[in-house]
Amino acid sequence: MILPVYLIGHPVLRKQAVEISMDHPGLSELIENMYETMYHDKGVGLAAPQIGESLRLFVIDTEAFLETDPETEQIKTAFINPIVEKEFGDDFVFNEGCLSIPDVHVDVMRKAEVIVTYTDENGKRKTRNFKGLAARVIQHEYDHLEGKIFTDKIPQIKKMVLKRKLNDIASGKHKPFYKSVIK
Ligand SMILES: [Zn+2]
Repeated sequence: MILPVYLIGHPVLRKQAVEISMDHPGLSELIENMYETMYHDKGVGLAAPQIGESLRLFVIDTEAFLETDPETEQIKTAFINPIVEKEFGDDFVFNEGCLSIPDVHVDVMRKAEVIVTYTDENGKRKTRNFKGLAARVIQHEYDHLEGKIFTDKIPQIKKMVLKRKLNDIASGKHKPFYKSVIK
């Protein structure tokens, strides 16, 4: 089932999400619906707060990057109760987008590599290293669990430029092609 995406301005995106129990009712269905929503809406990652559930869970699939960057490792997995152990390596800039901020793309600086401990959709707890665009998507989605949005990471002057666009999204004046929810 395709779920509506909560857009910038909605308070659920600013909450610190809570840990999720592995016997959370409907967990596997929730994960399935998040994948379906992410693919339909043309995202590469989707965090539970973005569908209105303030839970420590996100899904990613980096396949869409393969077209422009054949070096990308394809990672398709759910991250349940992830912990970012370490962010390291060079800083690099990438033009990010977010389903909660439709049609806005901004250069964001992040570290190149990340080590994450998480439980996947099969219930397996693991710790592993990710780099490149997979690391990028993971860091972006993890921020959602902390109530952070990528526009928090850009210089004040750029925020001023974007202000109008963000207001238009928050007020429902600018709508995405997919189902969405505003405050
Ligand atoms: Zn996002």
